[in-house]
Amino acid sequence: MFKKIYKEIKKYDTIVIARHIGVDPDALASQLALKEAIKLSFPKKQVYAVGNGSTKFSYLGRLDKTEDFSNFLLIVLDTPDKKRIDFKDIANAKSVIKIDHHPFIESFGGLEYIDDKASSTCEILMEILLRTKLKCNDEIARLLYCGLVSDSNRFLFDSSTAKTFYLVSSYLNSYQVKISDIYKKLYLRPLKEIRLEGYISLNMKVTENGVGYIILTDDIIAKFKADSASAGNLVNNFNFIDEIIVWIIVTEDTKNNNVRVNIRSRGPEINKIAEKYNGGGHAFASGARLSSLDEAESLINDIDMATEEYLRRKENEDNKC
Ligand code: AMP
Repeated sequence: MFKKIYKEIKKYDTIVIARHIGVDPDALASQLALKEAIKLSFPKKQVYAVGNGSTKFSYLGRLDKTEDFSNFLLIVLDTPDKKRIDFKDIANAKSVIKIDHHPFIESFGGLEYIDDKASSTCEILMEILLRTKLKCNDEIARLLYCGLVSDSNRFLFDSSTAKTFYLVSSYLNSYQVKISDIYKKLYLRPLKEIRLEGYISLNMKVTENGVGYIILTDDIIAKFKADSASAGNLVNNFNFIDEIIVWIIVTEDTKNNNVRVNIRSRGPEINKIAEKYNGGGHAFASGARLSSLDEAESLINDIDMATEEYLRRKENEDNKC
């Protein structure tokens, strides 16, 4: 498959690289790294990395403006379904390549490489660059390392496998990647965010089944002068709390007429439940979008029931041993 992807890239003079809405470091870094790798390998090609950016991740690099592209190859990274692609002109692409590490949802009708065991889309690109004639340099290696480290939560999840460490090791051997500089950019946080995290810790409700949840209204976010996107991302900081098996942050975003939900689990798989609420994602890390705060109660109930069922099953299994 990697050779086929390389050949398809070789065929087109204009290549557009897209990824999912609600940009995150893996999506953005994979996009910018692939763009640079194609430009380095084929300097005459026109390559565009498109979609809405975020000033928070501007240290990764700049995106290109979306134009009226013609006769182009579209490469979609880190996105399992069409509705979440941050590029609307899919129908006009001459050919489409999908490269993703989310569980499969739908085909985009072209070449597809999906590895839902990979820690990140950046990890898949590390392998593609190693196994094809696409070139790499220090900057591309930096981007790939950033995306991988961010999506694996610093190698914390089970998705960090022997292959992940092998790839990281070979890139660190071959390229100059200043890890401490990367961590300063990825993990330096404003005090207001830490204070909001403190508020979440103090006010999170926990059900009998170990589902922790908090609803952050616009008022609360405004009080901490935080923005709603970074508020939801705090969900990653509540792992490894003994009493909490699944944790949920519901964030109101009136400006965008939106209620975002971030969910993480150390127990039941949650992506199928998220799909019921206009969401999806990975088995243990998912998100959803609600039409109003009222819907949150129903989502929390569904998650709570799944957690209760998970605990019952686990108890039965433990009793058998
Ligand atoms: P997040 O909590 O935003 O870090 O997202 C966790 C995972 O869920 C990522 O793989 C996202 O791509 C996915 N995800 C988040 N929100 C949605 C949504 N509304 N629909 C589908 N997938 C989502």
